[in-house]
Amino acid sequence: MKKQVLIVGAGPTGLALALSLKKQEIPFRIIEKRAGTGEASRALVVHARILEHYQQLGFSEKVVNHGIPLKKLHLREGNEDKAELNLSDLGEDLSPFPYVLSLPQDVHEKLLVEQLKDAGITVEWNTALESFIDNGEYIQSFIKNDGTIEEAQFDYICGCDGAHSTVREGMDVGFPGGTYEQLFFVGDIQADNHESSMGDMYMYMDEEGFFSYMPVREKGMKRIIGIVPKELNDKDTINYEDLSPSIEKKINLHATEVNWFSTYRVHHRVSEHFKQGRAFLAGDAGHIHSPAGGQGMNTGIGDAINLSWKLAAVLRGKAEPEILNSYESERLEFARKLISTTDKAFTNIVGRHTRGRLLRTLFFPYIMPFLLGFSVARKGAFKTVSQTNIQYRNSELSSGTAGKVKGGDRLPWIKKKTGIDNYKPLQSIDWQIHVYGEASEALSSFADTVQLELHQFDWNSKIGKIGLEENSYYLIRPDGYVALAKKDQGIEDLKTYLLKYKISSFKSTHSS
Ligand SMILES: Cc1cc2nc3c(=O)[nH]c(=O)nc-3n(C[C@H](O)[C@H](O)[C@H](O)COP(=O)(O)OP(=O)(O)OC[C@H]3O[C@@H](n4cnc5c(N)ncnc54)[C@H](O)[C@@H]3O)c2cc1C
Repeated sequence: MKKQVLIVGAGPTGLALALSLKKQEIPFRIIEKRAGTGEASRALVVHARILEHYQQLGFSEKVVNHGIPLKKLHLREGNEDKAELNLSDLGEDLSPFPYVLSLPQDVHEKLLVEQLKDAGITVEWNTALESFIDNGEYIQSFIKNDGTIEEAQFDYICGCDGAHSTVREGMDVGFPGGTYEQLFFVGDIQADNHESSMGDMYMYMDEEGFFSYMPVREKGMKRIIGIVPKELNDKDTINYEDLSPSIEKKINLHATEVNWFSTYRVHHRVSEHFKQGRAFLAGDAGHIHSPAGGQGMNTGIGDAINLSWKLAAVLRGKAEPEILNSYESERLEFARKLISTTDKAFTNIVGRHTRGRLLRTLFFPYIMPFLLGFSVARKGAFKTVSQTNIQYRNSELSSGTAGKVKGGDRLPWIKKKTGIDNYKPLQSIDWQIHVYGEASEALSSFADTVQLELHQFDWNSKIGKIGLEENSYYLIRPDGYVALAKKDQGIEDLKTYLLKYKISSFKSTHSS
């Protein structure tokens, strides 16, 4: 069968895109210039919103079983706790995954490759995209393998090929931004003399900078992250041994083995476009930012999920190609916001100026723990970090309000408070209507006619407190965001909405 999509790059973004397209039965190829999955642990945390998407793909259990939910954050000076924050129940009531999951990127990638293999998909290793031409009708690609160049045609090309993206180069779009002045280090070490339990994360902040470590993999292995002291910045190669005297003195930790160690500069850049004709950018190919809050990899996987259902809908004739434009508007807006919020905060924290020093010596050890003692602040922090507060209210695909929920919002999860699992139906990765209360005859019959799944959930007042409104309807997108929220059950808006992009469900025998 003709392959409809070429995925370039098998990092977490490309692999997640592949998994989602496979689940939606879209034929594709995924090529990767490396010989196999990455060996460096790099991104360390998987956030709740990604686990929610993985749940739709039947993959969350595997990921959770291989990770460690972070339980406590210790803010320390020397070996003394200045403050201890409970991380384990941060997102209680908000998500089926109310925590931050520690899982090294290399393990995460291996799990994705394994999951694909079980579904009959093999990544084409040692295979690189050389270039491509978008002639308007299809993508003509030039793929190098074993010294030979293969020419192949696809409907769409997805550049998940990282910061130095060949696809971005081919699209000829700019990648404006800058580079932070500090040099960072990251490594995985075995330490034999430090008291720490699984799930505990330690953070040290002082006048000079910050240093943090947390458990990875089996007991004893720790991930360390920090800023290289200024006096070492000009050294050609920096090893753990160059830093160990200051680290081990500061926190009384003794490394017996260094599994992986690297220094890196942090950039902040966002591509001018995420879509051009039949070419798309996702993940680091489209945006790179500081590792603060572990947002980079998670944002890339979020791109993949957003793009995959739109590509699937268009390729299966269940939506007009114009729907693909919303990929750029939704994800570019979020990437830019991330740069202007997380990265600004990051600049302040690591800065060598007075504000940075005050944040490290005053705000984090004393003020932040006080603020996070309030449940509203804890919930707010969880929503931001976990990416569960991403919304697409400004999108051309979002419309209406019912209760506190607007078109573009993530469907609120209600199970913890009500016992009703309104996320279970999302596993179909298809358009659906939710009614909390009773659906009218007219709505039920319309849903039947257009073969849209209609899910009715028994009303109870706790649902109202979460923000959904009794007897309103919510049209839900395949990625679990509310497309249309309608107060009464009038179906004219629904008809108009579906007609605009000629949307129909996968089950439907009608097509655009
Ligand atoms: C040292 C370090 C530490 C980091 N720490 C964190 C962290 O703590 N938290 C966090 O969220 N993020 C962190 N990151 C960032 C995170 O690793 C990236 O955001 C993530 O890897 C992005 O995934 P991706 O799939 O978009 O791109 P990548 O992982 O870069 O994958 C792109 C893939 O495309 C392949 N490729 C490139 N060109 C071609 C071509 N022409 N043909 C075929 N294949 C090609 C590459 O070989 C690569 O495998 C860190 C990064 C580094 C370098």
